[in-house]
Amino acid sequence: MDTATIITIDGPAASGKSTVGQALAERLGYLFFDTGVMYRAVTLAALRQGVAPGDEAAVVHVAETADIDLCAPSERDGRLYTVLLNAEDVTWAIRAAEIDANVSQVSAYPGVRTAMTRLQRRIGERGRVVMVGRDIGTVVLPEAGIKFYLDATPHERARRRWRELQERGVNQPFDAVLEGIRHRDHIDSTRAVAPLRAAADAIIIDTTDMDLHSVIEKVYAYVIEMTDRAR
Ligand code: C5P
Repeated sequence: MDTATIITIDGPAASGKSTVGQALAERLGYLFFDTGVMYRAVTLAALRQGVAPGDEAAVVHVAETADIDLCAPSERDGRLYTVLLNAEDVTWAIRAAEIDANVSQVSAYPGVRTAMTRLQRRIGERGRVVMVGRDIGTVVLPEAGIKFYLDATPHERARRRWRELQERGVNQPFDAVLEGIRHRDHIDSTRAVAPLRAAADAIIIDTTDMDLHSVIEKVYAYVIEMTDRAR
């Protein structure tokens, strides 16, 4: 396995992981894989089947049987990729407030994580990949050659998420967005299995006072430096 071409980016909600990961993958000609969409798709599948997010056994069954796929964008509507759930395009459906509110509970179940991690490892081990999530550098691909952890204050992350929602025509009070982010941070970082945290060998970047462009440049510069050093 060529671990030098496996890049992981972890961090809390709205820390810029997806946008940075996508830009980095594009520059390097690597596959971009956003693992959060898998947990979102499981949550959507459960809600659609009338499964209560608190019903662990039923949610795990949904995770084990749902057909989730990530492919190149099928529409030019601002998406970074297309997410398919049982062959249906759910790219925007998984961004609904109801999913945000329930995804952390669903993704804390060990059975759900086992099913998703297996799939993620299979894709990551092929190399030439930028994989983004909460536990990629610590649990999914601990052997990755280059690891990043992006962070920012909850207030700054809520501001970014609020603006993103406004741009999509979704009106949510700022305080509700901030509360949602704090709630997810809490569940994601205190769960028993694969909690959100930086790997010991991750490069930690606080993006609170940085614009996206500067973060992308900084991450890219690190990758070039580390790749040169590994040669
Ligand atoms: O990154 P995103 O906000 O789309 O992730 C949605 C949720 O999925 C997170 O709040 C977290 O609960 C879960 N997740 C996870 N492990 C990952 C990626 C996402 O538990 N690797």
